[in-house]
Amino acid sequence: MMIMESALVGKFCKPCCFHSTKGVLPKRKGMPTHHLFSSEFNILSLLTSTHLSVQAGALKQKSSGFVSKELGWPSPDDEIPFWKRDFPSWDASPEVPTDIVKDSDLLHVVHVTAEMAPIAKVGGLGDVVTGLARACLLRGHTVDIMLPFYECIQKQQINDLALITTYNSYHDGNWIPTNAYRGVVSGIPVIFIEPSNEFFKGQHVYGGSYNELEAYLFFSRACLEWMQVAGIQPDIIHVHEWQTGALPLLYWDMYQYLSLKKPRVILTIHNMEHYGECRQEQLSKCGLDGSLYATIDKAVDDRTVGHNPERLSLLKGGIVYSNAVVTVSPTYLKETLCSGWLASTLITHRDKYFGILNGIDTAMWNPAADVFLPAKFNAQNIEGKKLCKHYVQRGLGMASESIEAGNYVLDKMLKIPLVVCISRLVPQKGLHLIIHAIKYVEQLGGQMVVLGKASDGRVEGEFKHLAELHSHGPRIRILLMYSEELSHLLYAAADMVLVPSIFEPCGLSQMIGMRYGAVPVVRKTGGLADTVFDMDDQSNRETANGFVFEGIDEGSLNWALDRAFAYYRDKPDEWNGIVQKVMEIDNSWNKTAGKYIEIYDSVRVTS
Ligand code: ADP
Repeated sequence: MMIMESALVGKFCKPCCFHSTKGVLPKRKGMPTHHLFSSEFNILSLLTSTHLSVQAGALKQKSSGFVSKELGWPSPDDEIPFWKRDFPSWDASPEVPTDIVKDSDLLHVVHVTAEMAPIAKVGGLGDVVTGLARACLLRGHTVDIMLPFYECIQKQQINDLALITTYNSYHDGNWIPTNAYRGVVSGIPVIFIEPSNEFFKGQHVYGGSYNELEAYLFFSRACLEWMQVAGIQPDIIHVHEWQTGALPLLYWDMYQYLSLKKPRVILTIHNMEHYGECRQEQLSKCGLDGSLYATIDKAVDDRTVGHNPERLSLLKGGIVYSNAVVTVSPTYLKETLCSGWLASTLITHRDKYFGILNGIDTAMWNPAADVFLPAKFNAQNIEGKKLCKHYVQRGLGMASESIEAGNYVLDKMLKIPLVVCISRLVPQKGLHLIIHAIKYVEQLGGQMVVLGKASDGRVEGEFKHLAELHSHGPRIRILLMYSEELSHLLYAAADMVLVPSIFEPCGLSQMIGMRYGAVPVVRKTGGLADTVFDMDDQSNRETANGFVFEGIDEGSLNWALDRAFAYYRDKPDEWNGIVQKVMEIDNSWNKTAGKYIEIYDSVRVTS
């Protein structure tokens, strides 16, 4: 490793919803009670193959073991929406695959991250950290996650939470009293860093009223400071995204000259869109001399060269100063070497830059054991998926009118393809294509549910308008919020999952969708190109698993949706075959974590 010149200056378990029938089958306004029972009758006749029997107002399990004991059907008029009911503990207990190999040469890895699923998740970063950590733990390694103790974290989701250290960490000329807590989340040890100033306060992971960049600079140093105070020297410090991009600088130019000697630093870039733009004096607030990093070979933001003053990029600094840099799919690696202002830096550091496809956490995303689902299912038995679809259709009021009309119409509802799109509503995700899909799916006679959160007011306004337009119709729902629970229910209910991104470093949504039997319809870019292969590509029959389009125009998307709908409606046997096939694809971290471990091994200090 290059030595840099010194720049040192300064379980929860709530009562279970599925077991209660009281208030779970509320009367819809003006609906006589007998209608509820007649709709139960229809559902029974639909689901006879799953061995269900009806008991006044609730479905009861007979023998399949896959349906919640007493299921109350939801309605849009429920006081508590179906995705906010109380669920049993969702402390994902890892299903330990029988073929898991324990590694012989064991490492201690500490992730330093701004997100962790499920307690502090905004997008894929949170999923990745939890999934990779769990996979490495299963292989026998010691893994800790270090996370800011955001005020919005629900403490009931942390097991064995305890204050372990109170120490001071530097920020802007002061030593800030800071608490370190230890806890266990979803089976993974976590160290929570809680400064006594305003950092990380507020109701959301991002967007608090404090200076976010300075808060993450503080956090990066506070993690190293804690390791020093606690006398902990992991083999690997694994940092993620721009938020922790300053840690490699702090490590090599400060803490390595203090007491930390052993760790080596790995950076994963989940999305090259965010560079961590930083003024020199802001970097100086964490104790480094910001002016020393304003060179092309260090951390200057190339786009600002010649400006006065030039700015820094924490992501670039992280790339230069880390022992290895990983991005989240092989295709995104190629794309980032060819375009964008960071390409020249990445080319310079090409020998330590790798593309490893993300996995999904199959303990957290498991339709056979998912606590949020009214019925469980797997690739061999997808009857429960039909129930989930109907459950969601009813809960959102998309099928309710038809149910009362009898079996025939109910069957017809289940024959309507349900497309879901679960996404942050930002330009990267192909907003114009999502909006077009809403129109086009309706035109094709399908149904579509969008679950998304917009950070931009204008985008939110546009989707709000669409949501209101469709809120009473039978085909479209647009839900502008973040809900982990609802996302699980929607993946389970979906026939297709739409991911029309303009660019997509990896994308988890298509992989999660597949695990839940939703066939992906995606734009061919980044990790989507590495995970979804077109059904009509004759040269690729073996891997074919979805519908792919290339253009960013509406016609390209129409073509993919047309073909997906045609398979669904005209070739039901082939469709069922695809559903089973996508559910059986192994996109788990257990499959890919080994590639990270190889990189950890290649940079670790062995003596
Ligand atoms: P990105 O990291 O760019 O947001 P990914 O596809 O890699 O995109 O990961 C997105 C993750 O966030 C998935 O787990 C997806 O289910 C989840 N997600 C996105 N939007 C929402 C939302 N509004 N509510 C719940 N989960 C969401």
